[in-house]
Amino acid sequence: MIPSILPTYNRAPLSFVKGEGSWLIEEDGRRFLDLGAGIAVNALGHAHPALVAAVTEQAGKLWHVSNLYRIPGQQELADLLTEATFADTVFFTNSGTEAMELAVKMARKYWYEKGEDRTEIVAFTGAFHGRSSAAIAASGAEKMVKGFGPLLPGFVQVPFGDHDAIRAAITDKTCAVIIEPVQGEGGIIPVPDQCLKGLRDLCDQTGTLLIFDEVQCGMGRTGRLFAHEWAGVTPDIMMVAKGIGGGFPLGAVLATENAASGMTAGTHGSTYGGNPLAMAVGIAVMRIVADDAFLDEVNRKAGALRQKLEGLVASHPDVFELVRGQGLMLGLKCKVANTDMVAAGYAQELLTVPAADNVLRLLPPLTITDDEIAEAVNRLDRAATSLEQAKGGA
Ligand SMILES: *Cc1c(COP(=O)(O)O)cnc(C)c1O
Repeated sequence: MIPSILPTYNRAPLSFVKGEGSWLIEEDGRRFLDLGAGIAVNALGHAHPALVAAVTEQAGKLWHVSNLYRIPGQQELADLLTEATFADTVFFTNSGTEAMELAVKMARKYWYEKGEDRTEIVAFTGAFHGRSSAAIAASGAEKMVKGFGPLLPGFVQVPFGDHDAIRAAITDKTCAVIIEPVQGEGGIIPVPDQCLKGLRDLCDQTGTLLIFDEVQCGMGRTGRLFAHEWAGVTPDIMMVAKGIGGGFPLGAVLATENAASGMTAGTHGSTYGGNPLAMAVGIAVMRIVADDAFLDEVNRKAGALRQKLEGLVASHPDVFELVRGQGLMLGLKCKVANTDMVAAGYAQELLTVPAADNVLRLLPPLTITDDEIAEAVNRLDRAATSLEQAKGGA
């Protein structure tokens, strides 16, 4: 018999009932150190006082009004986002996938309005942009698309870092290129700065719109407000979600005036997107994260964590292969099955997240403390040791 919850997830037998900062408390009282942060969502940890205050205050005033009316919170958050980025304009969504949908529509509409038949979108192997029809077509990955055809047409994938293939893929039919500056689900793979620069040049030469998917790597995760800032290039369109709501469902598409020029009244909409409750939380998150002192701390802590992880790789050469990533978006490529490592973490009351390429993902709250970093590495050390002992005993 089918479970009453559609069984699309392989869930761990853990039920959390409360969160405090970097900690999640299980029904039975056990306290887990959370290096997953809801997959980069709880950027400020759990129950951050500023977010609790923002949501509580707004909840007593007004939850939802339709986008038939002006929503002052949207203006405030859009101003914060456009002041802090390349963007001139913002549309609010409820998720990263919805941001993907709009990014695709915006890019196609841009060329339609110019009277040119440019509809194809170039994406990258191993990419993840969500689970909608457009997003799975962009990814092209067998495990996401199998059985869900016919796929939305107009997407091609090129391998990561293959410059000739990228050049060849951008034709007079291409409207946009979409890339995660740091691949998340794909295994925490940062795109080298030169590649992002090269891609920007290629897009400029051909008029192609460049879309950055910063749903996972954005909002301070890499130590800059947005990951592409490290490379010194900007996109035409950017998708944001996960961290921007700090746990409240919120996403956004940011764009230049030029890229957004096709999106006139009536061309897109969302019932919930940008509602007052989401805006109150988003504003509170932005006010904390888009601050140089906060981002300096993220970088300092990221350096400390990374150094400790390098030590862990050196002391467990049969468990870990290497560390990669940027800021507090780190991946430990494993030699054992990454899922075994995640399970060994559970036994140490430590939460991590698997990713493709046999990677263990570490995405702690950006507010994690130095003591918690030390404790997390101790727990990872014990988890790795437990796998070595199991192997030795077998
Ligand atoms: C999670 C993710 C998405 C999809 O976001 P949802 O909020 O789950 O719809 C898209 N792109 C990237 C890079 C992601 O990590």
